[in-house]
Amino acid sequence: MQAEIITIGDELLLGMTVDTNSSFIATMLTEAGFTIYQITSISDSREHILKTIDEAFTRSDFVIVTGGLGPTSDDITKETIADYFNSSLVSDAATLEKISSMLKSRGLEMNENNRKQALVPDKCKVLSNERGTAPGMLFEKEGHSLVSMPGVPYEMKYIMETHIIPYIKHHFRKETIVYRTVMTYGTFEARLAEILEQFEEELSADVRLAYLPTAGIIKLRLTAGGEKREEALEKINRQIKKLQGIIPQYIYGYDGITLEETVGDLLESKSLTLGIAESCTGGRISGMITSVPGSSKYFKGAVIAYDNVVKIRELGVESAVLEKEGAVSKSIAAAMAEGVMQRLGTDFGVGTTGIAGPGGGTPEKPVGTVWIAVASAAGTVTGKFGFGMNRESNIRRASLAALNMLREQIISS
Ligand code: AMP
Ligand code: MG
Repeated sequence: MQAEIITIGDELLLGMTVDTNSSFIATMLTEAGFTIYQITSISDSREHILKTIDEAFTRSDFVIVTGGLGPTSDDITKETIADYFNSSLVSDAATLEKISSMLKSRGLEMNENNRKQALVPDKCKVLSNERGTAPGMLFEKEGHSLVSMPGVPYEMKYIMETHIIPYIKHHFRKETIVYRTVMTYGTFEARLAEILEQFEEELSADVRLAYLPTAGIIKLRLTAGGEKREEALEKINRQIKKLQGIIPQYIYGYDGITLEETVGDLLESKSLTLGIAESCTGGRISGMITSVPGSSKYFKGAVIAYDNVVKIRELGVESAVLEKEGAVSKSIAAAMAEGVMQRLGTDFGVGTTGIAGPGGGTPEKPVGTVWIAVASAAGTVTGKFGFGMNRESNIRRASLAALNMLREQIISS
């Protein structure tokens, strides 16, 4: 089943508005089992709209159009699409009633533009819009369907969720599509693809694998179709079992879970507590940990020990060691982790110290050098990392690395 998306609006071509509608719609249609053939953004021009719609409608089963349904003269999508389907505009009583009561509640009079908004092509099914005035419109012709929606993202989302998804299920799909994601940390995409080469070759034709990398984390999305949801899910779960055998060291969770959520779940399930001493990460790890609801159950607090004075005074780091080995060193990371664990009385302590950049690097300790330590009753483990030159990326990658080291230590505790 093939679908396409057309977004209409001069503002999209001027670069003033980012086309977020396409991304939202494409995600929903893909999940519903469509292959997206093309995404097109065009101007509010009659010729442009007619030509683009004609091409899309003749080659694809389902065409989704957004934009150009406003009440002003630059919005011409409705009139143009009505012409394309040889349809004339008639007033829609329900829409007119809604606009009139909305105006009344704001103490405004109905004007010509408002009346125009209640006009709909007589050959379409009107899709009510509880978030705004312009309704969606659905056309069907020779087995193909086209829907036109307002460009305002939250109105479009309302119509997609309320009308389009149920319509797709009823009209197009006999088969359900299910997907799950396997969350990995600790390697990069090219390497993962190499390790999974044979796995991919052996994948049955009805299960698809996609690599979705974001900074530091790669999601593996497995998609399968089936007559029944359970059947499709079973196919995917069989492949996930296989992955667990091939890359156990990289899998930290499933279905979109974050590293901080995984760490939180582990701490909570084992009734353990955490304290963090952050230098180069400047509070980022604590921010990630506390973004998870319920983190107060296991997170006691943190010391942002940016300056050496704070490392000494608040964490008990020895100034002699600082002088001898430098702040960015294995001993200091360990002393920070142990210091925060002792002072906050937690089961685990994490310490980070490094050079986030762009300045401050030396030949021995270039920008991107980070030491991380995790302390617990079992002892202290440390790791040295060499990230890159970008400050933001170094902070993010150091934070993820610390969370992952912590995760491994909690599991083996
Ligand atoms: P319209 O239906 O053309 O009146 O669109 C109304 C508003 O929705 C525009 O001013 C934009 O701010 C926004 N908008 C239109 N198209 C898109 C799009 N493809 N993605 C995100 N926002 C959009
Ligand atoms: Mg517009």
